[in-house]
Amino acid sequence: MTKVTRFAPSPTGRLHLGHALAASTVFDFAHQAQGQALLRIEDIDHTRCRPDYTAAIYEDLRWLGYSWPMPVRVQSAHYAAYAKVGIDLVQRGLAYSCALSRSDLKAGKRTRRPDSPSHAEAGRVCERLRQSVQLKTPSLPFSVRLDLKAALRRASADLPYQDGGTQAYALPSLHDWASSDRPDPIIARRDIGTSYHIAVTHDDQLQNITDVVRGEDFVNQTPLHVLLQRLMGWRTPRYHHHALVTDAAGRKLSKSDKDITLQSLRERGFNPADVLSHSLLKTRGAL
Ligand code: GLU
Repeated sequence: MTKVTRFAPSPTGRLHLGHALAASTVFDFAHQAQGQALLRIEDIDHTRCRPDYTAAIYEDLRWLGYSWPMPVRVQSAHYAAYAKVGIDLVQRGLAYSCALSRSDLKAGKRTRRPDSPSHAEAGRVCERLRQSVQLKTPSLPFSVRLDLKAALRRASADLPYQDGGTQAYALPSLHDWASSDRPDPIIARRDIGTSYHIAVTHDDQLQNITDVVRGEDFVNQTPLHVLLQRLMGWRTPRYHHHALVTDAAGRKLSKSDKDITLQSLRERGFNPADVLSHSLLKTRGAL
């Protein structure tokens, strides 16, 4: 079967050296597998994403020498599809509305589905999810959380999921991951009406992604994605995580590091081969 992977940046700033490494890992993977690498714009977070950054992603990736099949999937055009997933999970009793804020959680309050949520209540939550899609900037009066306990019971949590992926990062079993006393994860944020987790798993299924290649900073999100795939009856791709480019102090590069954006490197006369070369990516000191 032809391997299909994707590069899925979020347009919240200019691409930097870390993105160059991520993009080259994805596109090289597809090249070596004689497969295909798609580009997907993950811009559902209207509080942080900007169209000019999307345009800059195309420009920077082309400068690096990459091309991708058209049309590109732009997630902000598909809120309705993501809301449907949330509605489905609420209707099946696997997700619930929650008014707790981050500071409530910090203060020790625990997330928990109400003991006997009524049918009418679930109906109201779904209606709100539907309405949020009509707005240009969707929002909800609450967040929606996945009921982890119920989800694990439903999702054959003991089955392994790393079929054929690289073994560089040990991925926990769904049970171990969920039993670490984590709060029920948010699957629809108040301020966007959905979440990265729903959008990314929905689109990986829709676009027939066979291999997800992404940074090690996603290792902890992968079990939740696998859980969602099982609940929705979607395929689980093979997951490959790669190391991140770090600064001299060993920290992950951030979008506020203006001096290592691809735009700034280009303007300072670096060529794509320089940028993509391993040593340059690894040692910020060389810049
Ligand atoms: N949109 C995510 C990011 O920009 C990547 C998601 C993924 O590869 O699964 O960090």
